[in-house]
Amino acid sequence: MKTLLHMQGLTKEYGNEKAVDNITFSLNKNTSTALIGPNGAGKTTTLSMLAGLLKQTNGSIVMDGEITGDIRREIGFLPQYPQFYSWLTALEFTEMAAKLSGVDTKIAKLEAEKTLEFVGLGDAKNKKTGTFSGGMKQRLGLAQAIVHKPSLLLLDEPVSALDPIGRREIMNLLKELQATTTILYSTHILNDAEEMTDQLLFLRKGKLVEQGSMREVREKYANPLYKILFL
Ligand code: ATP
Repeated sequence: MKTLLHMQGLTKEYGNEKAVDNITFSLNKNTSTALIGPNGAGKTTTLSMLAGLLKQTNGSIVMDGEITGDIRREIGFLPQYPQFYSWLTALEFTEMAAKLSGVDTKIAKLEAEKTLEFVGLGDAKNKKTGTFSGGMKQRLGLAQAIVHKPSLLLLDEPVSALDPIGRREIMNLLKELQATTTILYSTHILNDAEEMTDQLLFLRKGKLVEQGSMREVREKYANPLYKILFL
């Protein structure tokens, strides 16, 4: 399988604290990987470095064989707490996101419309984002992350704040995206990871303490898996 992304010795220090401590791993093309760990494990910090929002203290990130440069077109990012301009409509917001991600301005509106349709917000495209429910906001957040058709999709706890229906909607969308997109998403809930994951990466206190397929990890630790997360 071809590697899309490789990070080597990735480290982020805040003062004397290592939020992320010497992490090395690879993501293969069109696979889904869950970054799993308790609060404060370093999930958001790792994703933020991969998304280019945070500069690492040490280590390298290589995508498709190149040290990452202009990654706007290559990467889509859904933050844990996505922010929207409440006075913009969903279509205006998604079109703006498309342009900021490098989509040709001539087709940005069309791409935004198609993407809103895909995430189930076609009927709400002309509504102001400030009127959206939590589930709609998360689907809008996903729309802005995929409108430029990134090869790598980074999702920070995409379903943690949602009710079961909202969770199901997002999981179904992610399953559709899996065929053509490499996905890395963080969660602290093992069941979320189990559903659509090829590889699990366990972070604890900034360190990568375990990785493998769900089956491998289960065999290694048997039950309860949670003990390696929370002890
Ligand atoms: P959660 O599940 O709560 O979102 P997380 O796994 O995403 O947690 P991070 O947010 O990456 O964890 O935080 C990792 C560690 O880095 C924590 O100890 C946190 O306090 C620390 N940290 C994060 N951002 C900063 C910052 N800007 N300054 C100082 N320390 C920080």
